[in-house]
Amino acid sequence: MPLVSMRQLLDEAAKGGYGVGAFNVNDMEQIQAIMMAARQTKSPVIVQASRGARAFAEDLYLFKLIQAAAELNPDIPIAMHQDHGNSFETCKSAIALGYTSVMMDGSLKEDGKTPSTFEENVEVTRRVVDYAHERGVTVEGEIGVLGGVEDGHGAGGTGLEHITDPDQAVEFAERTGVDALAIAIGTSHGAYKFNKKPDGSVLKMDVLIAIHNRLPHTHLVMHGSSSVPKELQDIVNEYGGSLKPTWGVPIEEIQLGIRNGVRKVNVDTDNRLAMTGAIRKVLWTQPEKFDPRDYMKPAREAMAKVVSERMTEFGQAGHAGDYTPIPISEMAAGYKSGKLDTRPSVAAH
Ligand SMILES: [Zn+2]
Repeated sequence: MPLVSMRQLLDEAAKGGYGVGAFNVNDMEQIQAIMMAARQTKSPVIVQASRGARAFAEDLYLFKLIQAAAELNPDIPIAMHQDHGNSFETCKSAIALGYTSVMMDGSLKEDGKTPSTFEENVEVTRRVVDYAHERGVTVEGEIGVLGGVEDGHGAGGTGLEHITDPDQAVEFAERTGVDALAIAIGTSHGAYKFNKKPDGSVLKMDVLIAIHNRLPHTHLVMHGSSSVPKELQDIVNEYGGSLKPTWGVPIEEIQLGIRNGVRKVNVDTDNRLAMTGAIRKVLWTQPEKFDPRDYMKPAREAMAKVVSERMTEFGQAGHAGDYTPIPISEMAAGYKSGKLDTRPSVAAH
């Protein structure tokens, strides 16, 4: 199956009332782990690469691996997404490679660190939307600023400094025409999201619900949504790691989000922890081992297990066969004719 437009994948998720996990990849084993889980659970899937991942894998290696995944798994719809594009040029280069979706994170300036103004964000996002939609490619924007730093990208902080303002979210959706909107509700990137199980004072699900009520036709995206389960932290620490106690986003909060317009859920840390724990266990308990396959195989299996749990919890499991992919050229025609227009003033009618 050719790579699928992320917009189609999210439209189908909205129809079915489920969320789709977006899992980050840097190498072959991670892509294989996601595809093992997708096959096992019959799930459509979003695979995403950050700028750091693209640099690590020299772009073409990673993209060819995704094409291999699509070829080897003809029954699984796969969208390939640029995570946190920092500029028009980054998004353009992803589209040139064949990515079917890009995130233009205009909430930060091009340095990926400094919060931008609302007008700067609207301007660069609108430019990417025009370019991408002409080519049938999906665009995710971001309004509000997430906490933490990942792969050198992020404003830092706890995530409570720039919570999304629902009025601004509506104006942003109207002026940019994005297909999906990442919002800041107190989550952050990386392992250290919360210093205790989060409640409403730090994880603003009420803000998410308020945004969904104002933008019922916009697909919402939760970033920094690893659950950071204690079992995974324990394995790392049991075999020589030294992670400090930390809490992620509880699955039930993500599920509440999915009942309120969240269609894409970004998960990276949980997979990193699963792989690292499995690798540590082999190296710690069998120090005579030196063939990378001896630890990469269990690492891949550990990640596949987490991904398959998330696919089930988010509700995407069982939905791989629900639809046939719309060719990207047809998506481009749909944007041109206005059929795929999601601006609130249009979509409400
Ligand atoms: Zn993110």
